[in-house]
Amino acid sequence: AERLLVQSEKLNFAQGMAATVAHEIRNPLTVISGFTQMMQQDKDSPHAYFYGLIDEEIKRIDLIINEFLILAREKTDTEKEVFDVQEILRAMLLFFKPNMHANEIDLESHLNDQPAVIHGYPNKLRQVFINIFKNALEAIGTNGNIIVSSSIIEEQSVQLVISDSGCGMSKETVEKMFEPFFTTKDQGNGIGMMVTYDIIQEHKGKIHVTSEPDFGTTITITLPLAQQNEV
Ligand code: ADP
Ligand code: MG
Repeated sequence: AERLLVQSEKLNFAQGMAATVAHEIRNPLTVISGFTQMMQQDKDSPHAYFYGLIDEEIKRIDLIINEFLILAREKTDTEKEVFDVQEILRAMLLFFKPNMHANEIDLESHLNDQPAVIHGYPNKLRQVFINIFKNALEAIGTNGNIIVSSSIIEEQSVQLVISDSGCGMSKETVEKMFEPFFTTKDQGNGIGMMVTYDIIQEHKGKIHVTSEPDFGTTITITLPLAQQNEV
């Protein structure tokens, strides 16, 4: 429990910092960008070409800042809703199906017939599944399988289990995977899992990971079902 506390403090700090940094950088950047665009318009200037380059680099910084803002996103930007979380999961499976098919990844899904109604943010949970499936696809590459299942536990919570037959993780990697900016990928950013952790926390849920190098990874998410007074 202490470990988790440290992690969520780190997360809050990272989010606060990200928001401040993003806004502080964006203002002078807008000014710089305005001037370089102005100077670019002077076609006779021998430096016009370089101003173009500067502007492209500014756009790159702006993209990075956007990523920061995603991570710093306000905690409650929308109203909570009451919905079946399995519907979101089903929709996301449909969304990834073509990609799985193209990479020869078999999908097995054992979703509950009973609805799993929760009180929360559908868009954020959509993001959770996107992050998890993206990682699963990246871990598998081509040829493998993903198994998704759901079950209701003691009429209190819903348990969602997502397994992939991908590259798996060492114990050390599992321990670090939710840390801000932790990545083992060349093109990774280490944001997906920290955001996922944050969103599950926000829903008063739990996320648990088991993994074995070369065999695959299983992610278990437990979310409390909506209470009678929330429905
Ligand atoms: P990114 O995908 O940008 O690296 P994430 O926050 O999504 O960042 O994941 C952090 C790290 O956790 C990954 O770099 C990878 O090492 C590990 N990881 C997450 N999910 C999986 C998975 N399904 N299989 C193997 N490794 C994973
Ligand atoms: Mg990822």
